[in-house]
Amino acid sequence: MKRENILIILSLVLLAFFLVRMFDSGNMTTGSQRSQELIYSDFKGLVASGEVVNAQLVGDSLIEGFTQDGIAYRTYVPAEDPSVIDYLRLYQIPINYVPEKSLPWYLSILINWGPFILIFGIWMVLMRRMQGTGGGGLFSIGRSRAKKMEPSEMKVTFADVAGIEEAKDDLGETVAFLKDPAKFRKLGGRIPKGMLMSGSPGTGKTLLAKAIAGEAEVPFFSMSGSDFVEMFVGVGASRVRDMFEQGRQNAPCIIFIDEIDAVGGSRGSGMGGGNDEREQTLNQLLVEMDGFDGMEGIIVIAATNRPDVLDPALLRPGRFDRQVNIPLPDVKGREEILKIHAKKVQMVEGVDMSIIARGTPGFSGADLKNLINEAALGGARNNKTELNLADFEWARDKVLMGTERRSMVMSEKEKRNTAYHEAGHALVSALLPKSDPIHKVTIVPRGRALGSTAYLPEKDNHSYDIEFLNNRITIAMGGRAAEKIIFDEVTTGASNDIQQATDTIRNMICRWGMNKSFGPVVFGSDNRQFVLGRDIGKDREYSEKTATEIDKEMRKTIKFHDNKAKKLLKDNIDVLHKIVDVLMKEETIEGTYILELLGQKKSKIEPVGG
Ligand code: ADP
Ligand code: ZN
Repeated sequence: MKRENILIILSLVLLAFFLVRMFDSGNMTTGSQRSQELIYSDFKGLVASGEVVNAQLVGDSLIEGFTQDGIAYRTYVPAEDPSVIDYLRLYQIPINYVPEKSLPWYLSILINWGPFILIFGIWMVLMRRMQGTGGGGLFSIGRSRAKKMEPSEMKVTFADVAGIEEAKDDLGETVAFLKDPAKFRKLGGRIPKGMLMSGSPGTGKTLLAKAIAGEAEVPFFSMSGSDFVEMFVGVGASRVRDMFEQGRQNAPCIIFIDEIDAVGGSRGSGMGGGNDEREQTLNQLLVEMDGFDGMEGIIVIAATNRPDVLDPALLRPGRFDRQVNIPLPDVKGREEILKIHAKKVQMVEGVDMSIIARGTPGFSGADLKNLINEAALGGARNNKTELNLADFEWARDKVLMGTERRSMVMSEKEKRNTAYHEAGHALVSALLPKSDPIHKVTIVPRGRALGSTAYLPEKDNHSYDIEFLNNRITIAMGGRAAEKIIFDEVTTGASNDIQQATDTIRNMICRWGMNKSFGPVVFGSDNRQFVLGRDIGKDREYSEKTATEIDKEMRKTIKFHDNKAKKLLKDNIDVLHKIVDVLMKEETIEGTYILELLGQKKSKIEPVGG
């Protein structure tokens, strides 16, 4: 039987026992019959009037017996009234004496301690309930519950981490230190004891921390910041203490605290007077960080995707004073990460992961892992034994846009609208020489988007030239332009495109100095103003007149690109119709097909940079 059940039963038995005793008090000695309690003077009166038949003295102060009417009575004698015996004798009432019946020892323990045991038991049960399953109940609530991984279980090494070479290079020294802290000490090297890894979710922060432990072959303790924050004040602090204690006993080792922002957010920033528990936990963490000198061989690694909200006290020297930024992987990194995870699945010879990598800008390592996993699941559903490029592309689209919603009913008109819109983007793009090659055009709704045109950037561009940007604006206007030409009306689907186009134009004028009429001037600083978390715009550092001119120029530029897109589409209207025909039938077409229709032999997606 579970301990919890025993506790509950024990509590119930005790409760029943006390209830019975409460209602039945004083009756323990006369057996089961209920007796009437008499006031002492009344009792004396009854004796005097001959009503009382007998009297049994129990101990010093209780008299029991029966009256003439056969009613059991009892009465309490005021503190040692020895005259009562003489009095009874006087009226010739038979007296019997019994010593006070004492309770068996276990009952008296129960009576004396019962209430405490009962309360304690109930409390235990409640605690266990609150803690959920498992755990050692009451006695372990302040324990750290850190997950420990022994070196023998740690199979992660640097080879499993790709795309963050810089961070890995930086950490070689840390590994050397953990491998032999004593040697390091002799050489007088200094190793930061606290390291803060910041980066978007899924970029591999946990993985990298594990890899350090794996490379150095030391134990790895991990805990999430949110595990420290319990509802009881003081619990978090004691868990922190316990975690560091475990670390000290197992040094050299790594202590990994995920989501440190859960405890380490700035103090006093919370609404409603702050949070004592969190503050105590944070303070304890600071105390522990200060409490070891780092030469013991403990390295504390904390991870967060919000380094900006951390309490500055955490980042002071001697605490988490080393910051490692883990960026999203670039195209090369993505390819390597894909290769690492693709090793685990069966695929045909020669699948070129660089194509997938090029189509996944903004994907994190975890997203890429998910992509491979989705491809494998999709392949299995189709009874494939080996995956090919198409499987990975399908998985990419799935991860990118959420699950396909083929079942979502789109009216024929909506579908045609979307087809012209997307074909418009794609055709304009294909007609402009300097733009990202088109990967795929689809009108299958995914996520919130009705359709989409995916491009294959040849590299992750961080700086673009004017021609590329201008083309991007024209392409953005292309969707709307096509709708306008064919239906003479536009749908709301175009609003996002206009936003994108306007943003690009504004940046070209105001920030990048790419506009002929304005020249290389930056208008407005980058200090955006926020009110209640909302961006109310930049500090304007230019006159009303300039603002009006910028507005005018922007409108002019939009108009120009709109007309340009329309002209390109009108000149190739037969191709536009053809693309839409195929789209209506097959829902998805490849970028290369559009180039074929245009009679361009050379595919724009062929070789990178070629
Ligand atoms: P984070 O801690 O930054 O949120 P994780 O380390 O938990 O991210 O990443 C989740 C998973 O995604 C990892 O277990 C790993 O399989 C995969 N992953 C993430 N980044 C990488 C990377 N750079 N190289 C290889 N795999 C990665
Ligand atoms: Zn669009």
